[in-house]
Amino acid sequence: MGRGHGGSAADPARRVLVVGGGVAGLLCAYDLAVGGAEVTVVEAEEACGGALASRDRGGLPTDAGAEAFAVQSEAVARLIDELGLADRLVTPNPAGAWLQLPELAAPLPATGLLGIPGDPTADDVVALLGEAAAARAAEDLVSSPEQWRERWEAVGAGQDRISLAELVADRMGPDVVDRLVTPIVSGVHSAAADDLDVEAVAPGLVSLMLREGSLARAVAARRAQAPAGSAVRSLRGGMHGVIGALLDRLAQLGVSVRTDTWVRALTDVTGDDSEVDDIVLAVDGPEAARLAGLSWTDGSVGGSPDRPMNDPEEALGPGVALVTMVLESPALDSAPRGTGMLVSPAVDSVAAKAMTHVTAKWAWAAEAFGPSRHLVRLSYGRVGDSATGRGERTGARSTDEELIAAASEDVAELFGLPGLGETVTHADVVRWRRAVPLSGPEHAGRAARLRSRLAARRGPHGERLHAVGTWFAGTGLSRVVPDARKTAARMLAGDA
Ligand SMILES: Cc1cc2nc3c(=O)[nH]c(=O)nc-3n(C[C@H](O)[C@H](O)[C@H](O)COP(=O)(O)OP(=O)(O)OC[C@H]3O[C@@H](n4cnc5c(N)ncnc54)[C@H](O)[C@@H]3O)c2cc1C
Repeated sequence: MGRGHGGSAADPARRVLVVGGGVAGLLCAYDLAVGGAEVTVVEAEEACGGALASRDRGGLPTDAGAEAFAVQSEAVARLIDELGLADRLVTPNPAGAWLQLPELAAPLPATGLLGIPGDPTADDVVALLGEAAAARAAEDLVSSPEQWRERWEAVGAGQDRISLAELVADRMGPDVVDRLVTPIVSGVHSAAADDLDVEAVAPGLVSLMLREGSLARAVAARRAQAPAGSAVRSLRGGMHGVIGALLDRLAQLGVSVRTDTWVRALTDVTGDDSEVDDIVLAVDGPEAARLAGLSWTDGSVGGSPDRPMNDPEEALGPGVALVTMVLESPALDSAPRGTGMLVSPAVDSVAAKAMTHVTAKWAWAAEAFGPSRHLVRLSYGRVGDSATGRGERTGARSTDEELIAAASEDVAELFGLPGLGETVTHADVVRWRRAVPLSGPEHAGRAARLRSRLAARRGPHGERLHAVGTWFAGTGLSRVVPDARKTAARMLAGDA
């Protein structure tokens, strides 16, 4: 059996095993160790970091996954400060990103939220929508949204849901959904606008709309509430700097970090007679469920006869594949597409769903790569892509060769520079399947249910079980970081 856990100075230190060395696991380990726990971290890959790992490109370490954090919560900036990295904080090029539609490419509207314009009459909105669709969107400014009140009250009572697509189509017309919202949510949230609950992706927006009398005015009010300046920040040298700093702190605190160790079963790491009081599962949701002997799909013990224990295809979806390329091209020095592009799914000639021009977005990257040398990252894998990749256009399940070939063509098409593909000097593919949960309508319920089932369950030797990470906290560092810290604090306080 696991020992009774310590808490007071007289008690032996609480012993904790953290499975998963992504940012959630490492941060939880750090806070627990600072709080006096004896912690071990076990990570499957050769290096820690998960979606915040680094990868060498053109001789420089660069971000393999996440490259920035949202400033809407202060938690990430506070952590960066605590890790002594505050002098490395940077903001992106304010030029912003562009949107590629079937017949035109133009800068994304400056005042939007999830593609919903804060001012449907603004020139940048009219440029993307056209006069007629923009006029329909502007009806939102003068027609009352009161008929949504009843639905909104039913949502509050847990009896209804309002999808992003239906709300925007009703208030501003279907063109705003198709041309502005869909490219953004499919590129950024890996979800269809029909599948996203407004309340999940933009909490409080519907009640703000009812108060303001218009969806556009609600978006504008929400934007005005955001802290001044850029909505995202990063670190000079890349966000992976957080992982390096956390690993340094863990080493100072005597935390043992074992990499290259995939935990097949909890008994692999707890032995026959566990000396561990707590196990923190800092892995993806289906993996956490599997390790705890529960079903991710319905939370049942060992799964149920009509639902397999875990259905990876259903829970994970096709995932995302990133193709990162170094290009030697003076034509890109002027950042002709701002910091990058989101691509509408209606654009048949481009398979990528988004492109980041890294050296145009971050000044430190431009300096590091030098004149005329550019780092560009394209992402593949749309909602609804076949999970096998067979018979579909290039997507997350295509081979590396197919992806790199498609990326060379896409980059030329998106920049409007034929022959750009021939300037590629380096290309690699990084695949993310488990790092990003499908944010479909069932996700939040499954995550909350699994967490509560884990709290009531024990490990193979009576260890308490906990779960942290993006599958439970929500997507993005601004959600993962505070949640991991809260979990560690509750454990140290003896509340979990
Ligand atoms: C391509 C991409 C771009 C992103 N961009 C941004 C961004 O710009 N801004 C932002 O805020 N967020 C971004 N995110 C999201 C952000 O990176 C994640 O929310 C966050 O890094 C998740 O951290 P985590 O620790 O929860 O999970 P992970 O980073 O996935 O870590 C989980 C770890 O557990 C390990 N593991 C799994 N199973 C086992 C096992 N059985 N045994 C041992 N180890 C195991 C894995 O190898 C992995 O290292 C991005 C994500 C991706 C994939």
